[in-house]
Amino acid sequence: MSLPSRCAERPASALGIGGALRPEVLRNPFQLVDLQSRRVEYLRLSVTDRCNYRCSYCMPAEGVDVVPRADLLDFAEMVALTRVFVQLGVRRVRLTGGEPLVRRGIVELVQALAAIPGVDDLAMTTNGHLLADLAEPLKRAGLQRLNVSIDTLDPQKFALVSRGGALQPVLDGIAAAKRAGFASIKLNAVTLKGLNDDALVPLCDFAAQEDLVLRLIEYMPIGVDAYWGPETWLPVAEARARVAEAYALEPDESGEIPGGGPARYWRGRHGVTGKTLRVGFISAVSEKFCTACNRVRLSPTGVLRECLSARGSLSLRDLLRSGASEEDLTAAIRDAMAGKVDGHQYDAAVATVESMSAIGG
Ligand code: SAM
Ligand code: SF4
Repeated sequence: MSLPSRCAERPASALGIGGALRPEVLRNPFQLVDLQSRRVEYLRLSVTDRCNYRCSYCMPAEGVDVVPRADLLDFAEMVALTRVFVQLGVRRVRLTGGEPLVRRGIVELVQALAAIPGVDDLAMTTNGHLLADLAEPLKRAGLQRLNVSIDTLDPQKFALVSRGGALQPVLDGIAAAKRAGFASIKLNAVTLKGLNDDALVPLCDFAAQEDLVLRLIEYMPIGVDAYWGPETWLPVAEARARVAEAYALEPDESGEIPGGGPARYWRGRHGVTGKTLRVGFISAVSEKFCTACNRVRLSPTGVLRECLSARGSLSLRDLLRSGASEEDLTAAIRDAMAGKVDGHQYDAAVATVESMSAIGG
């Protein structure tokens, strides 16, 4: 695979809530299957397009236009649509954004989603900036797993890459999440040449010391602006090589790390301290994993995106607001699955123009 040049843009277990066990639901495991026989059981629900950071790889420096509030799905709509996806076999839901913690009432939304019979796994991806105060309430509301994004442990570089973010609140958020006792906490870092490629080992040391799983994510050409290019894109093999300078790595095929996502996990042992590391590599560009894709995305305005690289043509919000029944919604989602593309073309430098924050990363 050749290194992407600047991209040609084109439009391109029973969960206890307050200790209560969930009612059993009838399993319908094979209902949402696309034309490539990929079974979809994972919904990424973007709860807002707003964000308190401006990460260089996610949105342009000036930020992006946000949609009017009335265009965003409200909580009742999110719950109604999630119920429909669960009827179609979805078992895992991840809340993302934008930054999910800036959506007012997020704890109540988590509680409502956690109460849906059939949502076996409720997770969130967050930049962690507001997590210190929210970790405990989110855990009590029924959130099971958390991914916290942290690209570097260097405060200056952190502020630079997040364009104004601050490292300490994120570290405080991670500490609060550990105290709250989440079933799993993972750290996400996008690997960026010239920014954190020389600082991956300290991130690994932090993850090993805190006993957290680290995921190193290859930069994808999404919401591309002047930041994307050969100067910033780091192939996953290079990221792995950097980690291997300090840790003896072996593939982890134990299946013990929860999530079932695209990460390929490795176990590492530090050459000097002997500390154990669990690290996952997510490489959408150089080691594409589309054939194993098991997910769909719902944008904050209710557009179904069958693939991160596709615009999505079905507005479930509009259907819902025009009085569609559950049956209508189910049929529309099934039809839309026929349009789930075989795979993205990020490896051919075909980018997604909308920012990750607007799509729901
Ligand atoms: N605001 C939250 C956060 O940052 O964790 C959730 C939304 S963010 C869009 C979800 C994940 O997408 C983050 O881990 C972020 O690092 C990642 N991400 C954003 N833009 C990306 C890109 N162009 N390539 C790879 N990962 C990206
Ligand atoms: Fe950064 Fe997440 Fe906000 Fe994008 S949505 S700017 S990745 S914090």
